[in-house]
Amino acid sequence: MSNLLQDKVVIVTGAASGIGRAIAISAARHGAKAVLVSDIAELPREGGTPTTREIEALGVATRFVQADVSRKADVDRLVEAAAAFGGVDVMVANAGITARDDGADVSEESYRRLMAVNLDGTLFSAQAAARQMKANGKAGSIVLMASMGGIVGAGMTVAYSTSKGGVVLMAKSLADALGPDAIRVNAVAPGTIDTHLLRTAAGIAEAAEGFRQRTPLRRLGKPEEIGDAVVWLGSDMSSYVTGIALQVDGGLLAV
Ligand code: NAD
Repeated sequence: MSNLLQDKVVIVTGAASGIGRAIAISAARHGAKAVLVSDIAELPREGGTPTTREIEALGVATRFVQADVSRKADVDRLVEAAAAFGGVDVMVANAGITARDDGADVSEESYRRLMAVNLDGTLFSAQAAARQMKANGKAGSIVLMASMGGIVGAGMTVAYSTSKGGVVLMAKSLADALGPDAIRVNAVAPGTIDTHLLRTAAGIAEAAEGFRQRTPLRRLGKPEEIGDAVVWLGSDMSSYVTGIALQVDGGLLAV
């Protein structure tokens, strides 16, 4: 499709399903040298073939690495696997979970798990990638998956929005910390994207129709449209872009 990611080794977490899967396949389509697909489980939650199968069909080197991003040792092992391909150039910390909660009613267990995956997992992924990029003396791009819920508040998902707001500030802070090493860090803030997460999360699925009606483009986003944004942030086409939260939301937050 293009050679925007030519010679780049890309890691995508949460890449068995949904947005992560689309990002991994987009990276392969846009000429990545190798794509490491990582998730807690290999099969897509929505059904179908493993992401690596799709990437192999495109003739791009790939490997599945099982990792729970909330476990630092798992993430370190994932990034070490990129060494076999010459080291990571683009880390996409996409893995994330959601839970409906109205603030007053979040269980301690679901709150801790949400923060462990969305905040700890995202930071562990970024830090492990940055460590390897620095050791290899390589410039790099790290893309963190935020959400529109990390830019504006949402009473329906207090813990989730709090975690994603943290991801936006994490991207800005890491951009400052890693800029002198030529490592760019940006967040992507998707609007309402048609994935398993959206269709199955209690309360959120029902809210999606309301979001669709409020979205200037009057439709849900496709996972591939997040893939396109991530390819741009991962590529040298965005070489002077760091510390932003790129809204890919059909205009939802503009109105
Ligand atoms: P999804 O549920 O379809 O896919 C998420 C993937 O992450 C799954 O394959 C799951 O197994 C994996 N995962 C979950 N916990 C993990 C862990 N601890 N370690 C590794 N992998 C783990 O969800 P999605 O809609 O594709 O969401 C992907 C990202 O995009 C998330 O960070 C989500 O918050 C964000 N997002 C989604 C939307 C949307 O509308 N779908 C909107 C804004 C942001």
